[in-house]
Amino acid sequence: MIQDKEKVLKSYFGYDAFRPGQNEVISRVLSATNTLAVMPTGGGKSICYQIPGLILDGTAIIISPLISLMKDQVDSLVALGISATFINSSLTNSEQDSRMEEIVKGQYKFVYVAPERFESQTFINTMKQLNISLVAFDEAHCISQWGHDFRPSYRSIVPNLKKLGNIPVFMALTATATEEVIADIQTLLQIEAQHVINTGFARENLTFHIIKGRDRFSFIRSYLEDHLDDSGIIYTATRKQADAIYEQLLKRGVNVAKYHAGMSENERKEEQAAFIHDEKQVMIATNAFGMGIDKSNVRYVIHYAMPMNIESYYQEAGRAGRDGENSDCILLFSPQDIQLQKFLIERSLMDENAKQNEYRKLQAMVNYCHTQSCLHTYILDYFNDSSEHINCGRCSNCVSKTEKTDITEEAQMILSCVKRMGERFGVSMTAKVLKGSSDKKLKEFQLHNLTTYGLLSTYTEKEITEKIHFLIAEQLLATEEGKYPTLKLNKNSIDVLKGSRTVEMYMVSIPTTEEDDYY
Ligand code: ADP
Repeated sequence: MIQDKEKVLKSYFGYDAFRPGQNEVISRVLSATNTLAVMPTGGGKSICYQIPGLILDGTAIIISPLISLMKDQVDSLVALGISATFINSSLTNSEQDSRMEEIVKGQYKFVYVAPERFESQTFINTMKQLNISLVAFDEAHCISQWGHDFRPSYRSIVPNLKKLGNIPVFMALTATATEEVIADIQTLLQIEAQHVINTGFARENLTFHIIKGRDRFSFIRSYLEDHLDDSGIIYTATRKQADAIYEQLLKRGVNVAKYHAGMSENERKEEQAAFIHDEKQVMIATNAFGMGIDKSNVRYVIHYAMPMNIESYYQEAGRAGRDGENSDCILLFSPQDIQLQKFLIERSLMDENAKQNEYRKLQAMVNYCHTQSCLHTYILDYFNDSSEHINCGRCSNCVSKTEKTDITEEAQMILSCVKRMGERFGVSMTAKVLKGSSDKKLKEFQLHNLTTYGLLSTYTEKEITEKIHFLIAEQLLATEEGKYPTLKLNKNSIDVLKGSRTVEMYMVSIPTTEEDDYY
């Protein structure tokens, strides 16, 4: 007799009620409908495949790029009295063979598999012999070329699996997916729109902060002093930066761990374990750290520099507060971060199209650092989260106490300057013209003859730049994507120029401290 899903939730997992979206996903999978679950980190995705896997006849195959997590997931199922195992490169060949034999005999309800296994024809042949209940793609954004962590080998599994003919239902689960990633997964796994269960991305317990114009290292030092007992992660943009901050904090007696791709596998494993088990409190890492880290009590995630897109940022910052407790997500922004990210995109092996896409995403990240709207809402809007948003009331923008100033006139000057410059130049040259700078290049382009030259000479070039970035972030001015984005007017700019729209900005004075540099 088919077991009731609510009973399974209670008897195996001890929970009384489903979290948002879980019931909808589970019902669909039980009726053999391909389903995509988009739920925030900590939302309870595992249960979405574990309950159908328990109820349905046969073995559930969970494909996950997170080798580091497989053992933990298997162990926690086994602890609940559920038969589960995993197959990945951490096993010897003979261990793999004997597990495969047990799997074929139907000894397991759950088998976690790394995507690379599907490169082996022998493995595919074995899959053919199994009685499969469902196939779940965990971290499904990795199968989309639009995802921020695209893994071609993950994507290529899909046609091979479809050919097998013995898979009753596919499901995909992810915590980070833009509309294009969702659409891509839908096409790939033939998931109809009504079977995409998207509970939204909001993480009520996270408070977002942007810190600008402060010495980053001294900020970290004072933050850590106020959070002596808390566990946290500090993400850096480069290995060198991670090494330098690690050394500095170590010297100051902070109980720090370190993780980046330049360390040996053993060292990384040890550092990770020490952090997970609360033996070391602060993890200093590059983005190599974290995918699949299941540590619930991370109280803060500080980004020492701006990451390359909102997807990465939200995923990394989202490692804070998985236990539902209030946690901080802090981004320390400096304009030079933009140059570094551009450099990384230029240096990458992506084709021109993919690079343009990255530049577009980078611009959205830069806008996040300049917007004066609610930061949490900005992120949710980026993901086209369809739920109603109200300002979070907690982020650094929401609590900013300064008075708003009407800058409509200045905005009009900026916009008409962009127009007069033929919409052919970027932020920095436009700021120079408005300042009335005697820059050589400006004169070469005859820009000192424009009527808008020097119109904002009472402001510093930095203040003008801030205003331009603000107009971009508020979509009152557009940028053309690319390595050297040029400024363009849009429909909103015309409204401002015509005077049918006013522009208000919080005037935050940004001290010009010397930046500490760990690049
Ligand atoms: P995700 O994979 O979406 O980040 P998990 O599946 O790891 O999240 O679940 C996060 C936590 O929430 C786990 O401790 C899990 O046991 C718990 N959880 C899941 N579903 C429920 C539920 N219906 N009621 C209470 N707790 C739940």
